[in-house]
Amino acid sequence: MRVLWFCIPAYGHTNPTIEVVRELTRRGHEVRYYSFEEFRDRIEGAGATFVACDDYLPALDAKAERRIRSVSTTEMSVKSFQTVANLDPVISADIARWHPDVVVSDSACFWGKLSAVKYGLPWVCSTTTFAFNEHSSKYMEQSAREIADMVLGLPRMNREARKLRQLGYPVKSALDIVRNKPDDNTIVYTSRAFQPCAETFNEARYRFVGPSVRDVPLRERGGRPLVYASLGTVINDHPDFYRTLITALRDEDVDLLISCGKGFDPAALGMLPANVQVKQFVDQMEVLARASLFVTHCGMNSASEGMWMAVPELLFPLTGEQRAVARRVSEVGAGTMLDKAAAKDPAKLREVVLHALSDDDLALGAARMREDFRSCAGPCGAADFIEQVAGAAG
Ligand code: UDP
Repeated sequence: MRVLWFCIPAYGHTNPTIEVVRELTRRGHEVRYYSFEEFRDRIEGAGATFVACDDYLPALDAKAERRIRSVSTTEMSVKSFQTVANLDPVISADIARWHPDVVVSDSACFWGKLSAVKYGLPWVCSTTTFAFNEHSSKYMEQSAREIADMVLGLPRMNREARKLRQLGYPVKSALDIVRNKPDDNTIVYTSRAFQPCAETFNEARYRFVGPSVRDVPLRERGGRPLVYASLGTVINDHPDFYRTLITALRDEDVDLLISCGKGFDPAALGMLPANVQVKQFVDQMEVLARASLFVTHCGMNSASEGMWMAVPELLFPLTGEQRAVARRVSEVGAGTMLDKAAAKDPAKLREVVLHALSDDDLALGAARMREDFRSCAGPCGAADFIEQVAGAAG
C-alpha cells in the first residue's frame, strides 16, 4: 500500500503520527510524508520518505507574525490556504506519478485534505486534538478575541477559498475547508473516555486509538519531587509566569525544571537558584518519567503525555482549545486548574503547587488515566484503520 501523509509544521501535530508511520512501514507499506525540515529526522527515522514543504509556506511579515502569535485562527487559515495554492503543482505531479492508495492528513493541514478531495482519493483525517462536532465544540470556551477574529476574518478567508476553487479544488467556502464532516474517516489520538461527548461520533468512522507516544519506563519517584513546567512549543512566550514559578519554589524542597521554548533565551531570567533549571527544549517523556507534577498549558499532547506517565497536572490553559483539554483533565480527576490570580502571585502559586504535590486523589486520577490510555488500540489500531480505508476503496 502507498500512503501519502501530510502534516503542518508543529510538534504537537507531528509527534503522534510518528509511531503510526513506524507501524505502517514495519508492515511493508510505503509512506511519503510531506512535512518540514525540522521534522525530517523523526520522519525518516520512522521509515518514511520525507518531502520538504518549507519553501512553499508564505513568507510572514511582522503584522502576520504578530497576529499568529496572538492566536489568530484567521491568519493561520489564510496562510494555510495560500500554502495549498503554492504546493498545488508539486502535489498534483506527485499524485500522478506515484498513485497513492490513501491520503492521511492532519485535520489542520488543508493541502493534504484538499488534495485528496481534488483527486478523489480515499483519505483519513489525523486529529491530534479532540474530535470536534456540534456537541464537543461546546467544550471550547473561546475568548471574545478569538470569536471576533473568526467572525471578522471570514470574508478574507472566503476570498482565499475562491482562489482555490479556480485551481480546481471543489470547496464551497472557507468554513467548508476548515470544518471536518461527521462521516470523514478519522483517527483521534485519545481514548473514548477522555474525548468529550464520545457517544455522539459515528463509531465506524471515528477511531479513538489513544495517545500515540514513545513509551518510556516510569522512574522511581521517591525523594525530592520534580516539578516540570512547559507551555508547549507554540505560544510559550510567558517569561513573567516562569519568573513567578521560580520565585514560588526557590526555597522549597523540590526541583523545578522549565522548558521555555526555542523563542526565549533562558539567560534572560538571570542567575537561577540551585534547585531550578530552565531549558529551551527537553525530552518531555523522559522528564515526565521522573516528575511528580506537570505544570502544563494543556496542549493535547502534553496533557496526554502527562496522564500516560501518571503525573498529576496543574492546568494553565491559554487558548480555547487548551481550555477544553484542561476542563476534561480536571473532570477525569487527573489535574487541577491554576487560576489566573495564583499564576501571578508567588505565594499563592507555592501553596497550589505544594497542595497538588500531596493530593492523593490527583495521583489516583492520573494513574487511572494511565490505565485507560494504555488499554487503547494505539498505533497498531490506527494502522489497521488506514489499511481498512485504503482497502475498502481498492
Ligand atoms: N515537547 C518536547 N519537549 C519540550 C516541549 C514540548 O518534546 O521541551 C513536545 C511534547 O512532548 C509534545 C509537543 O512537544 O509532544 C507539544 O505538543 P502540545 O500539543 O502539548 O502543545 P503545542 O506545542 O502544540 O502547543
